[in-house]
Amino acid sequence: MDQRRGPKASLEPYIKCEDLFKIHKVADLEVVALRGLDLRVDRGEVMAIVGPSGSGKSTLLHILAGYDAPSAGAVTVAGRNLLKMSPGELVDYRRSGIGFVWQQVSRNLIPYLTARQNVEMPMLLAARPRKARHQRAAELLEFVGLGHRIDYGVDKLSGGEQQRVAIATGLANNPPLLLADEPTGELDSRTGQEIFDLFRSVNAEYGTTIVVVTHDMNVARQVQRVVAIADGKTSTEIRRRRAFEERASDEETIHELAILDSSGRLQIPREILEKVGLSDRVQVSLEGDRVILRSEHE
Ligand code: ADP
Ligand code: MG
Repeated sequence: MDQRRGPKASLEPYIKCEDLFKIHKVADLEVVALRGLDLRVDRGEVMAIVGPSGSGKSTLLHILAGYDAPSAGAVTVAGRNLLKMSPGELVDYRRSGIGFVWQQVSRNLIPYLTARQNVEMPMLLAARPRKARHQRAAELLEFVGLGHRIDYGVDKLSGGEQQRVAIATGLANNPPLLLADEPTGELDSRTGQEIFDLFRSVNAEYGTTIVVVTHDMNVARQVQRVVAIADGKTSTEIRRRRAFEERASDEETIHELAILDSSGRLQIPREILEKVGLSDRVQVSLEGDRVILRSEHE
């Protein structure tokens, strides 16, 4: 156990979403983006969220960032209830509690400013003194591998370099949590991989908890835990552990687990449902310590 954390901190997840619902209203239409989503993320974890387009990934990330509020449910980050924050506390949370990286490379940065000026912007908004801003921007740009581009206009940089500046900008006020919404969506796969490498270095260097949304399963595989969202709910989770302790090799073991939510609901993978012929009613029984599901007519 990490000795720096108290026993209570180690029990409570860093991010806790319980039974989140989000209904987007557009004119007379209501779109349910999240329907009873549960998610827990540990402090210092780097994890990915995957899911098809429209499954609610961005909605979830906007709620975690304090940009949007859920229609129902509970969200706490570092023990703070996001729904109980005053407007002032929310501004502060968005400014230094989180860093956010958008998919659209152009949305992250101000195109007519240099890399350094972009990284300094969040610190300017937080009224950090000039010298500290200068130093921090240089340190961060060096860290993301762009020390030699510090005074370049960001519109002169490649897409991958721009996302690096965006990550440095997201880290400017040293937030404990970095949220990234499909940050590699507009990049080729090699550059995308480098961005994931960078997330891991950020985590190792600054201890930042990182949640990355992606639809690219290949890049998602680079993190320890991948949670899949389907229809506005978390459905399955893949965990990987290096098995070198057991086998003196660095093979990985992969566990795919279905998520049991706080109301006891479970999404059973479609292939299994089809294979076993389960339809809308099932018998649930206990046999020893196993839960058995049978079709209604068995
Ligand atoms: P993802 O990021 O997984 O593609 P989103 O969270 O963006 O999914 O969207 C989930 C659902 O909510 C979609 O059906 C989308 O059309 C809808 N939606 C998202 N944002 C809004 C909004 N601001 N207004 C109306 N509907 C929205
Ligand atoms: Mg999205």
